[in-house]
Amino acid sequence: MDVTFCGAAGTVTGSCHLLTLDDGRKVLFDCGLYQGYDLDMKNFNKTWTFCPSDVDFLILSHAHIDHSGRIPKLVKDGFKGPILCTYATRDLAMIMLMDSAFIQEKDAEYKNKRARKRKKEEHHEPLYTIEDVEACKNQFVGLGYGEWFDMPDGMQLLFRDAGHILGSASVTLRVPSENGMRTFGFTGDIGRSERPILKDPEPMPHVDHLICESTYGGKSHPAAPDELDGLEAVIDETCVQNGGRLIIPAFSVGRTQEIVYMMDQLVNLGRLPDIPVYVDSPLAVNATEIFRTHSECYDREIMQYLMMDPDPFGWKKLHYVRDVDQSKAINEKKGPAIIISASGMITAGRILHHVKNNIGDERNAILIVGYCAEGSIGADLARGAETIRIFGDEYQVKARVKRMHSFSAHGDQEEMLDFLENQDRDKLKEIFLVHGVEERQKQFAQALEDRGFKKVSLPELGQRVQLH
Ligand SMILES: [Zn+2]
Repeated sequence: MDVTFCGAAGTVTGSCHLLTLDDGRKVLFDCGLYQGYDLDMKNFNKTWTFCPSDVDFLILSHAHIDHSGRIPKLVKDGFKGPILCTYATRDLAMIMLMDSAFIQEKDAEYKNKRARKRKKEEHHEPLYTIEDVEACKNQFVGLGYGEWFDMPDGMQLLFRDAGHILGSASVTLRVPSENGMRTFGFTGDIGRSERPILKDPEPMPHVDHLICESTYGGKSHPAAPDELDGLEAVIDETCVQNGGRLIIPAFSVGRTQEIVYMMDQLVNLGRLPDIPVYVDSPLAVNATEIFRTHSECYDREIMQYLMMDPDPFGWKKLHYVRDVDQSKAINEKKGPAIIISASGMITAGRILHHVKNNIGDERNAILIVGYCAEGSIGADLARGAETIRIFGDEYQVKARVKRMHSFSAHGDQEEMLDFLENQDRDKLKEIFLVHGVEERQKQFAQALEDRGFKKVSLPELGQRVQLH
């Protein structure tokens, strides 16, 4: 048996690992899109280091595009096997892949238009289209958490809740071999305890080999302040005291529903001012519907909440906006309001218009609630930039910029170590760290060795390792 690291090696996107069994069958773990800017990785999304038609099974840890974003291309290029994932991941992946296809079609269209204008002989094709996403729909197989699923030839698969996003799972695979059953693990992305809505991450069974994420190796998240109080304070200052508008850039899946649920609680406590709140992102609207239908992923707190409020994602003054004209109309309305829109880093989408229209008024505020990559407008604002550029024009930052740090969906180092604490140090032969930049990985590797784990490796892209 061997494993090849086909993505997310020394970087945080493009998750993809290929397990080749002794009998030659191939199991792919995740098939993610590379979303970084490294020029060496330019062709990563377009090419394969294996033959898609040779893969027998794809096991998907969760629906984030950096884990699922190349599935339609994998299918287009010849993969015919089942895509095994949890029920919620199956539903969520479909709308996220549709969104991804739409963005890629638009992107290719824009580049072709630009090429024609510059009279350049180039033609850009989207990586896949909406039709390609439709075509892979029937290969998705939803499974429940916590039950060993029998696969052909004695293989068994187990998903346990990873507490990272709705439907996220760690993956454990039992593979029969000459020396008895061997157990292979893949953490997927490790979530956090005590986050709203989702259950806490559940430790994996003991494994022989483990692929482990390492996003926040060496890092610790600041202790969560009372988020309800923090959110209420920003809303009160912006919308009540200053009579302004609060703009919240947020990822459509996960972050948006957490914020909406927190506001729903404030409404029930009588602590949210009586002002309109808009969720302005078609993907967020669709994702919220999927959150509503997958209560198997809910933690005890939200289950209890449902007893007194049947809809944790809705109240009278909350408006979900799909339509472009309705989105534009938000700007024409006067008076205080809260607008939650995507993208979370203010790099694309409707949020660009909302930031542009509201950044010049000191009564308003922009609340940054998530990670913003270097080079994004979100990162510029968080750094305290005095001006920003949107659609080629420069804008003075007069609105106040606020931050809430505690919304990360990834565990920090201590939380990742806790997640692995139950693993048997004698049984676990090797941990492969992926999904992290080198500095984070080195620190996490050291911490794991300090905790008694025998062998921790940092595989390189394309590296193939025998599993003994
Ligand atoms: Zn993720």
